[in-house]
Amino acid sequence: MSIASKLLSRRSVCSVTLMPNGAVTTYRLRPILLGQIARFSCEARSPDPGSHVQANRAARFELAVAYRALERYKLHEGVCNHLSLMCPAASGRGQVMLIIPHGQHWSQVTRSSLLGVDEHGQVVEGNGQAETSAVSIHLGLHLCNQDARCVMHAHTPYATSLGLLKDPSLLMCHQISTRFHNRVAYDPGYQGMAYEVEEGRRLASVLGSKDILMMCNHGIITSGRSVAMAFDLMYYLERACMFQMIAMATGKQLNTIPDDMVKYNCEVFKGDEEDYANKHFNAMKDIILNDSPDVKN
Ligand SMILES: [Zn+2]
Repeated sequence: MSIASKLLSRRSVCSVTLMPNGAVTTYRLRPILLGQIARFSCEARSPDPGSHVQANRAARFELAVAYRALERYKLHEGVCNHLSLMCPAASGRGQVMLIIPHGQHWSQVTRSSLLGVDEHGQVVEGNGQAETSAVSIHLGLHLCNQDARCVMHAHTPYATSLGLLKDPSLLMCHQISTRFHNRVAYDPGYQGMAYEVEEGRRLASVLGSKDILMMCNHGIITSGRSVAMAFDLMYYLERACMFQMIAMATGKQLNTIPDDMVKYNCEVFKGDEEDYANKHFNAMKDIILNDSPDVKN
């Protein structure tokens, strides 16, 4: 059974007609998926016949850079863990989820090596196979959260280690930590290796409206409207966890920041967040393009 079939296998209780960009498509969907499948399955046609190709190429480049950049930061796990991005299909028919082919090292990802996976979990762009757990987790999250255009899952050392503790709470003890005030969801219900799309749906429900998921006994997920946002959240969450874990290792009491200052900082961070994220990601892009221009291949 395809992943999309599994997603839809529970009772289809209603039908819906979608009209994105003039196209009309009717599906029978469970309520939780209304509007989510629309992003993936609609026969959206661009006014400019070539724009979907350009958008697909641009998205591939952004995601390839993110793999290379996180590898440089040593936040990767060899050929495991995954970053994904929704974008227009190169064919012009709907959207695909871009993801790394199973077995490729993050330091070797290029624009063309990324796979495009359709709503059924099938590879429709590129050569290679998508890892089952990658598709299960990421497809479920993308389908269930329209805001999560980019989803990054990694076992970063300090954030993952914090998630191994009985109390995995990110404490408001460093300036960077305050950026994440009320933005982290915690999943204490480790379910083993993810080989069913149900796990992706479960994680999406735990994540809710937040953009960071602490997967206890496993790793972390960050999500964002853009690659730059998900990337920046991944990097700085790891830094916040690093400072906390090092401070906790002293065995001395942590000095947390007062609530009113936490809220103030959080609002300040939000105001400039996208601009800072773009600057951070663009700086890494320059470094990678200079050192490894094959990322554009
Ligand atoms: Zn994992």
